[in-house]
Formats: sequence, C-alpha cells, structure tokens
Amino acid sequence: MTARIIDGKAIAARLRTGLAARVAMLGFRPGLRVVRVGEDPASVVYVRNKDRAAREVGFDSATIVLPEATSEAELLGVIAGLNADPAVDGILLQLPLPAQIHPERAILALDPAKDVDGLHPINAGLLAAGKPGLTPCTPKGVMHLLAEAGVPVSGARAIVLGRSVLVGRPMGALLLAADATVTMAHSRSRDLAAECRRADIVIAAVGRAGLVRGDWVAPGATVIDVGINRGADGKLTGDVAFAESAGHAGAITPVPGGVGPMTIACLLENTLEAALVRRGA
Ligand code: NAP
Repeated sequence: MTARIIDGKAIAARLRTGLAARVAMLGFRPGLRVVRVGEDPASVVYVRNKDRAAREVGFDSATIVLPEATSEAELLGVIAGLNADPAVDGILLQLPLPAQIHPERAILALDPAKDVDGLHPINAGLLAAGKPGLTPCTPKGVMHLLAEAGVPVSGARAIVLGRSVLVGRPMGALLLAADATVTMAHSRSRDLAAECRRADIVIAAVGRAGLVRGDWVAPGATVIDVGINRGADGKLTGDVAFAESAGHAGAITPVPGGVGPMTIACLLENTLEAALVRRGA
C-alpha cells in the first residue's frame, strides 16, 4: 500500500482563507498580542510568523518584546495590562521563558478567556472534562487534519505517543471527545510497536526522529507526525520513519508540511473564537 499524503500546508491555507472571510464580515478586528521575552532564535522566528499570519487574516496584531532580564513581576504586570485591555482578545505567551520566570505562574496570570494557546489550567480542565474552552493549537490542528482527510475518528482505536501538557495530553482528550478509543503511550510504555500495530490512528508527539517504524503501522492506518527534529544536516524530520511507514499507512502527514502549518492556523482560529465569545458576537 502507498499512503495518501495529508497536505497540512494546503489544509491550513484553506482554514486561513475561511478565517479571513469571517473576519472581513465582523464589525471589529480581533486583537492578538504575542509576548516574547528574550531573544531565543527559534522564538523570534515563530513569533514573527504568528504576527504576520494574524495580520494576513485581518486581526489587530502586535508583538510585545521584553528584554531577557525581565523579572517575573514585570512580566505579570504586562500580562495584567493585556488582561484589562478591552481591545485585546487573545494573548499568546511565547515559550520558553528565561530561567528567572516560572512558566506555570506566568500562564496562571493569563485571563483564561484570552488564553489562545489553551494552556491555562482552567482551559486544560475544561478540555479534560469534555466542556468547551480554548484548546491547545497543535492538537486542535491534528483534529482538523483528520476531519479534512476524511478519517473516521468515532469508534476508532487511536494511540498518542507522548503525554506532554502542550501536545500529548490535550491530543488524547480531543480524540476521546470525538469518541475514539484512546491509548496514551510514553517513555515507560512497554512494547510500543505492538501498541501501535493495534491502532487505526497513530499520533506521534515524542521528539525522537524516526521512532515509529514502518512495521509498527497497521495496513491502512492513519499516521499523524507531530514531531519536529532537526538533523545534523539541518533538515527537519518527524518522529515517524516516513518512507517505510508510507508503505503501510492509508494516509500520512509529511514533516515539514503536515501538522506544523496547522498550529498557526489554529492559533488564529482560537483568537477569533475568543473574540466572538468575549464580545458576545
Ligand atoms: P515533550 O514535552 O518533550 O514530550 C515528549 C513526550 O514523549 C513525553 O511524554 C515523553 O514521555 C515521550 N517520549 C520520549 N521518548 C519516548 C520514547 N522513546 N518512546 C515513547 N515516548 C517517548 O515534547 P512535546 O512538547 O510534546 O513535543 C513533541 C514533539 O512535537 C517535538 O518534536 C516537538 O518539537 C513537536 N512539536 C511540534 C509542534 C508543531 O507545530 N508541529 C508543536 C509542538 C511540538 P515521558 O512523559 O515518559 O517523559
């Protein structure tokens, strides 16, 4: 079998076009503020891309850059100001933060209604309880990919490799909310290969290049590769051995061009959702 490639770039572009059309019909511009503390090179690029994408769909977007030496109290002050600003619908606090700032305290300071990354414990709790709230962007993007690719989730056996707060845990909760039978696997799981072979849907979010081998994938299964690993040659690869797995899977996402583009598109979608709820629109 040769797998169908799920084109995340094209699906994300369609999602963004749809969002831009919805924004154009609003009587206001949703406000997004991206906060970056320090000069982490990857964060500089991510933040620039998020800001550009937000402007492209018609948001009132701005980036707030704070110096590397910013104290936790100073950052909490900035967050309090954004929480209180009625023009701001979404606040994205770019991680990682410098060592002197406790990330959990900074996330806790966000107004949950403006937490467009879905990381505040209130939003995580709503997701765990199967209630509506703001959902982390990457797993939300994976659900869009499955829907757009026409992959049945209800009743399917899904395995999530990885249990991070950012990706694995919310991914499991979203699949469960969509009525999948979910297995959560992690570094202590026994016989990952056998666990994966039983799955109709494999989601790899581990950060280990090529961990998922072709013979771990059941014939016709859907494989979604969240991993981003940079090789010695500078090339990006996923957590799935792509060529091998594409020989077994029914559908598979590439890296790059799969899940990655969906993350920003879902940040935009979350910001629009937050704006509509906050403004009662
Ligand atoms: P993380 O916080 O480091 O979590 C990794 C998870 O993988 C942990 O739960 C860990 O298990 C598990 N794990 C590690 N080695 C394993 C192994 N050999 N077998 C099974 N499980 C193993 O990483 P993350 O933030 O979730 O990110 C995961 C990957 O997704 C990374 O490559 C990251 O770059 C990528 N990512 C991509 C996007 C995107 O937009 N495409 C967004 C976010 C993240 P334990 O809990 O037992 O330690």
